[in-house]
Amino acid sequence: MRYAILSDVHGNLHALDAVLADLQAEKPDRVVFLGDAVGYGAFPNECVARLRAVAEIMLMGNHEYAVLHPEERTVFNPYARQAIEWTDQQLTPENRSFLAQRPLKAQLEAGVCAVHASPHNPLEWLYILQPAQAQVQFRFFEGWLCLFGHTHVPVVYREAQGPEAEVLLLGEGTLRLDPEARYLINPGSVGQPRDQDPRASYLLLDTEARTLEIRRLPYPIEQAQAAILAAGLPSFLAERLAIGY
Ligand code: ZN
Repeated sequence: MRYAILSDVHGNLHALDAVLADLQAEKPDRVVFLGDAVGYGAFPNECVARLRAVAEIMLMGNHEYAVLHPEERTVFNPYARQAIEWTDQQLTPENRSFLAQRPLKAQLEAGVCAVHASPHNPLEWLYILQPAQAQVQFRFFEGWLCLFGHTHVPVVYREAQGPEAEVLLLGEGTLRLDPEARYLINPGSVGQPRDQDPRASYLLLDTEARTLEIRRLPYPIEQAQAAILAAGLPSFLAERLAIGY
């Protein structure tokens, strides 16, 4: 099966449209979205609608969860919280009830699962940022692959014997996977990359051939920024798009 794995669109319609245009050419068998369709960006309803139209599986992200559960917002920084409150006012009732039904976890096929944050307890919204943190998470899923998002950093981890998982790929590129090994893979963020590369990020994965490609795409950042400012959202949320952080 040839998958396109997308995550963390965060209301950035310009970045999402660049990825969807790329998918027209790549023609994956299935599109899977790992959560955080909304939050930060100016187009929550439009992004949910586009994703609903293409994704066979859409997971719940922590920003969707915080829109639906106001008591969860205290853990967010002021910029994120302001965007979540704005998103809460913008979402149509139909999109809200669609988001409320998103699962925290999904099995894509035998041996391959997907979560937004971490396989241990998806509702903890833990960040897997370091190889040692990744190594611990291999205990908490079965099969050979768990896809995750949430950190906005594209990375391929392989399970190791020691205390730290091996980092096989960061940022972008292609890779052939070892059929004997286990992996944790993050496709990066479509709408708010945080690895100092501002281009949109997503993953193409062939689970039969065991090959993958993390693709980075330019998009009109200044248009996404202008929409954030026009919506009255914090200017920091516009500025960070240009530096990829
Ligand atoms: Zn996110």
